[in-house]
Amino acid sequence: MSVAPAPERVLSTLNPDGSRFKIYPRVSAGRFHRWRGVVGYGLIALFVLLPYLDVGGKPAILLDLLHREFTFFGATFRPADGFILMLFGLTIVLTVFLVTALAGRVWCGWGCPQTVYLEWVFRPIERLFEGPPGESRKLDARSGVSWRRLAKWGVYLVLAFALANVFLAYFVSADTVASWVRGSPADHPVGFGVVVGVTGLMFFDFAYFREQTCIIACPYGRLQSVLLDPHSLIIGYDERRGEPRGKAGKRKPLPVVREAPGERAVGDCVDCRACVTTCPTGIDIRKGLQMECVGCAQCIDACDAIMDKLERPRGLIRYTSKAELAGKPRRVLRPRVVVYPLALAVVGALFLVQVGARTQADVWVLRQEGAPFTLLDDGSVSTPVRLKIENRAREPRTYRIELRDPGATRIISPRAEYRLEPGGRVVAPLFVISPRDGFTRGERAAQAVVSDDAGWSTTLAVTVLGPEGTP
Ligand code: SF4
Ligand code: SF4
Repeated sequence: MSVAPAPERVLSTLNPDGSRFKIYPRVSAGRFHRWRGVVGYGLIALFVLLPYLDVGGKPAILLDLLHREFTFFGATFRPADGFILMLFGLTIVLTVFLVTALAGRVWCGWGCPQTVYLEWVFRPIERLFEGPPGESRKLDARSGVSWRRLAKWGVYLVLAFALANVFLAYFVSADTVASWVRGSPADHPVGFGVVVGVTGLMFFDFAYFREQTCIIACPYGRLQSVLLDPHSLIIGYDERRGEPRGKAGKRKPLPVVREAPGERAVGDCVDCRACVTTCPTGIDIRKGLQMECVGCAQCIDACDAIMDKLERPRGLIRYTSKAELAGKPRRVLRPRVVVYPLALAVVGALFLVQVGARTQADVWVLRQEGAPFTLLDDGSVSTPVRLKIENRAREPRTYRIELRDPGATRIISPRAEYRLEPGGRVVAPLFVISPRDGFTRGERAAQAVVSDDAGWSTTLAVTVLGPEGTP
């Protein structure tokens, strides 16, 4: 069954016949482009260096999923810190809400790794090999693959492999990745498989999928309608100044507020489409704020350059708000801008308190497996007690266990002390020997005192089980 083509392009990245319309944005080298470059290359340096930075003997960031340990700038969190990790996650979510309410998609356009690597690494390489956007389109139209495109892909592949190794270093540490790189893939097939998989995904993303990641895959863009309000900072086209569009020509700027449309002179937009051809998601910002807009400010630079040439004031496209574009004042103070920081302060304070109050070790009294006690030949009772200790300090510790039980005649411990590495755990068994009549209704209260060689200690209540009544 044949499908009739749409009368015009429905989506910026879709041709009327439903095929992909590839975006090759023209560079608009203005003031925002310069500043974004500074921020972008700074962030790339940071992204690459973070797993190699050493803070307190550990990488600055290490998300060790295998051992379920998450290290951030010297602080290591484990599953037992679930509440702290939840508060940390909540802090990030609230920060995203607040930044978006204030500054719109500034993260997408200026800081997201997808944007910074694409705009400051992969697209420049593309232009180096293929030339300006028109040349890339010609290569698309050619049958067969040109050597220029093959060479570009080759460089992409090498870069994707390098970035995949950096990405992996966040999860297994830079030292582990270095040892994998030096060794044979056969020695670490899983690690090698992950590197190959991530390399493939990165190549696919930066060579082909590109803006589709922002438009289709990223959930953040889809949340904009609820995260933004009319006073949030957006990149917008001043329709009141720009419309009706006219031909280019030097003339005096028109007043910003004009009469009714029927009486209006030609607006400042000369319909040159520079703002469209520079857009990395291919949209026309003159149609209003759209979900595809990643806030990269390229259309501002493009339009400012046209306005400069025509000797008209800059800012036909600018950082603004929906309220300002409608001729109303922009309010900075509004409910969500008050509520988010308040919630952030509460959650942040709770997070800091919890981090400060983190214990040096976790100790649990475990439930018994099997018989709760054993009657010995001499008539006494042997009750097993099991304690689990986890070292949550940043250095190895040696633990001792003391069971305080006045009703016991003897306490048997297989080991005098337990040496644990950071994050190490052990189950320590004890056997409490007591007279048969030393229990009330089949149990007796005792205390376990666990201490380490750094002076830390904790006391836990222990129930010692035994027979009910005397024989
Ligand atoms: S509309 Fe402007 S700010 Fe938005 S993505 Fe396109 S060029 Fe960037
Ligand atoms: S760059 Fe400016 S003048 Fe040119 S089409 Fe866009 S809004 Fe109009």
